[in-house]
Amino acid sequence: MDSKTDAQRMEKIVSLCKRRGFIFQSSEIYGGLNGCWDYGPLGVELKRNLKNYWWRVMVHERDDIVGMDGSILMNRAVWKASGHEDTFSDPMVDCRSCKARLRADQLIDKKGVKQCPNCGGKDLTEPRAFNLMFKTYVGATEDESSVTYLRPETAQAIFVQFKNVLEVSRKKLPFGIAQIGKAFRNEINPRNFTFRSREFEQMELEYFCRAEEGMQLLEYWKEERLKFYENIGIPREKLHVKTVSDEERAFYSKGTYDIEYDFPFGRQELEGVAYRTDYDLSQHQKASGKSLEYFDEETKQKFIPHVVEPSAGVDRTVLALICEAYSEDEAPDEKGKMETRIVLRFHPRMAPIKCAVFPLLKNKEQLVAKAKEIVDLLRPHMSIFYDESGAIGRRYRRQDEIGTPFGVTVDFETLGEKDRQLQDTVTLRDRDSMKQERVNISDLAQLLSRRIA
Ligand code: ATP
Repeated sequence: MDSKTDAQRMEKIVSLCKRRGFIFQSSEIYGGLNGCWDYGPLGVELKRNLKNYWWRVMVHERDDIVGMDGSILMNRAVWKASGHEDTFSDPMVDCRSCKARLRADQLIDKKGVKQCPNCGGKDLTEPRAFNLMFKTYVGATEDESSVTYLRPETAQAIFVQFKNVLEVSRKKLPFGIAQIGKAFRNEINPRNFTFRSREFEQMELEYFCRAEEGMQLLEYWKEERLKFYENIGIPREKLHVKTVSDEERAFYSKGTYDIEYDFPFGRQELEGVAYRTDYDLSQHQKASGKSLEYFDEETKQKFIPHVVEPSAGVDRTVLALICEAYSEDEAPDEKGKMETRIVLRFHPRMAPIKCAVFPLLKNKEQLVAKAKEIVDLLRPHMSIFYDESGAIGRRYRRQDEIGTPFGVTVDFETLGEKDRQLQDTVTLRDRDSMKQERVNISDLAQLLSRRIA
């Protein structure tokens, strides 16, 4: 991999994200807050499209999964029982030369000698455990009795509500509970844009099953999740499945896969798919004294279900979508001279804006009126952008840069001025091929809805 080119590519992506309103630095006017990001008007649409599609395939299109939405703050006992209070930590070292605080597993190893990746310094402190949970106090007194944490993962809310959800949904094993929500980790080195943030969102499924089904369901969910990424426009050859080794895996897990993507800054994890056995439910049953068992009507047996967990990062997937979509090609400007065109080739399903509508000229009342009629016609079905300013080629280019897959232009043919047969037709332009087709206005909503479904 050419690291220079890729660093340049990443720089271009970060700058496009800011320029076009996908992602801004949090609290930017005050110098920012490391590891925190805000999504602008286009970023929030992209993020919602991703979350909605995940919810659609994981919950709405299945009989065996229901959703929930847990609170971010929970009783501290949850984090004691889950093991997070004692063990959710990264070993960390300080570099005495450049004062950087570093994760021990990210040091450079040169012939057995550890070095600082920032300055190459070898004068490092011994590793110390650093808990990644953000501590906070609930209520008016700030003492030990009021301590809790911002959740570092959404999964624990699912485990502690397992019994309630089971009772109300009346599901039989195997079945799952899905959740999308914020998580917080006081990462030592937030970096690579939004990839490693301190505040982020997760899309998690806890799929409960019998012990004997665990390993098979681990394979099943790995395959399902790979399909998901392909269906949002990330090609299979850019995805990699890493089998997490026995040493690296959590002690209670019987098998874990990391689904990785080739980011411009290297191959990195998008999602973990882990077979967590009955560890979490057993821990909570023990600590709370409440039964979290499942009663099998047929065999009349009571037992604690096992669980397979596909846990994906919203922000990492949004970043992967942007990185994958970013491309540059050549297209003619208004005078026919070739120029570099920046295009975000989002899958239409993910694109923040699905269709842009343009009157050919803004000072022709009839063209403008017709274009606005089309906006009203399409708006109930998809996100639309209306643009009447500037030369048409420039307007197309602005939409290419934000990944709008379709452009509809209202011209004199639409008004029937040149050929009566073409009245009430428009040109429909495809972002990727730049090809144009003539389409009846009355067919537009259905045709576009099909292409973005
Ligand atoms: P990493 O090894 O990169 O720190 P992890 O293995 O600790 O990640 P998990 O605990 O498995 O991550 O969390 C599940 C998913 O949540 C990850 O695959 C990732 O997509 C997302 N995630 C975890 N930490 C962060 C973070 N700091 N910023 C953004 N997303 C994150």
